[in-house]
Amino acid sequence: MARIDPRDVFQMVNILDGIATAVATTHTLPMGPTLGAVAASQAALAAACLCPRCSFVGPTITSAATAEAQVALTFDDGPDETLTPRILDILAQYGAKASFFCIGARARRWPALVRRTAMAGHSIENHSWHHSPRFALLGSHKLACEIDNTQELLADLCHRPPTYFRAPAGFRNPWLAPLLAQRALQYAAWSHRGFDTLDPAPARVLRRVLRHIQPGAILLLHDGRNARDRQGRPVIDTVLPTLLQGLAARGLRAVDLPTLLGSAVPVERLSLRSRA
Ligand SMILES: [Zn+2]
Repeated sequence: MARIDPRDVFQMVNILDGIATAVATTHTLPMGPTLGAVAASQAALAAACLCPRCSFVGPTITSAATAEAQVALTFDDGPDETLTPRILDILAQYGAKASFFCIGARARRWPALVRRTAMAGHSIENHSWHHSPRFALLGSHKLACEIDNTQELLADLCHRPPTYFRAPAGFRNPWLAPLLAQRALQYAAWSHRGFDTLDPAPARVLRRVLRHIQPGAILLLHDGRNARDRQGRPVIDTVLPTLLQGLAARGLRAVDLPTLLGSAVPVERLSLRSRA
């Protein structure tokens, strides 16, 4: 069965809401219930855009169906001159690999860090140019600029174009998916997130990323910014080594996204095991 284009759904709902509002102002329809229905339909559209792991606004990889004992480790919002090198050192110490979803503007500021990350064997992926909180409100032209400027810079720095895209905070609209498809980019969300930018307690961050973990999981942490623990240290300092030890104890290997998905079937829906 052909997939319904979410852009058509958005446009149709907006047209119907506009007609209903116009008719209500002529008192042909009761004003209160009509405006209530319009508000409810607009809220439903907003919810679809604000659901980071939903496939309604476009194909969304949340994990992988794999027989391999591996999970993908992903870091967002870098590079950062302090956090990224610390994370690279810890990953090297444990022989782990990860994918770094870089912000274009930050990559332009710290290009050597992007090169160092790629040279260490990690994958560099696209996390937009500005990481704008208004990303989900952008139209096609501005979305294309966010993708293309970042793609061009990262390909230049790493001699390999990113193959995955992730929207800021995971918020996006239906106009993003066709642009990604035209560029052979896949949209990657996550199955487990640590909320390491918000939660100052490493134990809680760790619990979230390890809860119900299974092969094929995609873990989300951050190298661009981090909450500070009681001693004033970034939580990732404690979380990452303990996480890598916890994965090893479960017989799981941390790999980058292309490795996880290279030999696996992407799961493009909310997974029952994705409870973080
Ligand atoms: Zn981000």
